Amino acid sequence: MIDTLDCDVLIVGGGPAGLSVASHLDPSVHSIILHQDAEIGRPVRTSGGTWERDMQALEIPKKHYQVIDQLDFFSDNAEARFAIANDRMAVLDVTGLYQYLASLSEYSNCNLLTGTKFVSVERQGDGFVSTARNREDGEFSINSNYVIDSSGWQSVVLESLGLGSKPNRTGVGIEYEFPRCSFPKNRAILFVGETALTGYGWVFPTPDNRLRLGIGVLHPDTDLSPRSVMDAFVAGGHAARYGVEILKDYKVNAGIIPSVAYDPELVFGNVIRVGDSANMASPTVGEGIRTAIEFGRLLGQELSNQINGDTRALQRYQATANKRFTRDYRFGLMMNQRIAQYSPNRWDKSVQRLARLSEVEMTAMVRSEFSVRMIVRTIWLNLKRKMGR
Ligand SMILES: Cc1cc2nc3c(=O)[nH]c(=O)nc-3n(C[C@H](O)[C@H](O)[C@H](O)COP(=O)(O)OP(=O)(O)OC[C@H]3O[C@@H](n4cnc5c(N)ncnc54)[C@H](O)[C@@H]3O)c2cc1C
Repeated sequence: MIDTLDCDVLIVGGGPAGLSVASHLDPSVHSIILHQDAEIGRPVRTSGGTWERDMQALEIPKKHYQVIDQLDFFSDNAEARFAIANDRMAVLDVTGLYQYLASLSEYSNCNLLTGTKFVSVERQGDGFVSTARNREDGEFSINSNYVIDSSGWQSVVLESLGLGSKPNRTGVGIEYEFPRCSFPKNRAILFVGETALTGYGWVFPTPDNRLRLGIGVLHPDTDLSPRSVMDAFVAGGHAARYGVEILKDYKVNAGIIPSVAYDPELVFGNVIRVGDSANMASPTVGEGIRTAIEFGRLLGQELSNQINGDTRALQRYQATANKRFTRDYRFGLMMNQRIAQYSPNRWDKSVQRLARLSEVEMTAMVRSEFSVRMIVRTIWLNLKRKMGR
């Protein structure tokens, strides 16, 4: 029976952000990860779309992703097809990748407690006492000097300390996963319009020859559940348009992601947030795995520096994230809020315009990485449209 545990750093949440913090802490720093699910990477709560260049830069083994060189966009009556020559997309084997990320801290000074839920935290002196719970031990305490909130959209640490709250706008997604059959393994599809309402849908082939067909909607922009939107999509026979055959024994994945403005405050003294709890997923398509890994690793390094006496290290972490996200995510969220209101007819026009973009422009838009030229051009086109009206 556990009564009390001690560590330097308590990491709440064993998703890509928390696992990456742990793997990049200095071996002299003792950490504990609390993860509420029984296993890392299961159940799957994400669809795993990403980019080959980021996986290479993060040194993710190739077996954990399927490279995609054909990305097609569909609305009800228009399509934009891209044969990607340079900046190829990728689809992750989510469970395999997360277990690989966990394996990176196996030999470090880290204890991973799965099936263990973080309940609450209180300040005590210069440190913290957290309460956790699992089936074997019931409730127990963990003393730590630092607490990392990597609990995803739930932001359980910030909420417990009154430093933040759950997002009031979220992307809520559901996915059916089944064998890929004859669907090409190098092709991904994104679809919008009548069948996906305020959100969008996707078809992603995984490295283990499965296909993920998903739909995400925005709450409270709509109060429909993604399940009902997906059921209508399936019943309407729309999958056939994309060459997808839905096999009966499909697995269901579901998840939630914040869809609110990026908040530049990441460091609250010895409480630090990263990943979805810091709203680091891209506002255009809600892609957050690569940034969770990248900034989780950076936080692990900078927190070690801070513990070893570099008093500016955590501020550097925050400044690096702010430089990366503030401008692009502000513009991306503006786009997201606008397109969430699009009618199916407006989506058709938009996809026709998309078809005229170069590969580089399309990629920048999906990744929420905007050049000043793109921002100015979009604002100008909007103004022109409004003045025309
Ligand atoms: C439907 C959907 C589709 C998506 N598609 C993509 C995509 O194609 N590509 C992409 O890059 N990103 C995608 N995302 C976003 C991506 O999943 C997230 O950005 C990413 O998972 C963030 O990682 P994280 O570690 O911050 O949070 P999470 O992955 O959410 O990990 C947090 C973990 O903390 C655990 N936790 C929560 N509360 C507690 C508690 N009280 N105690 C203990 N543990 C707790 C949770 O169980 C969870 O496993 C999608 C998200 C959704 C919902």
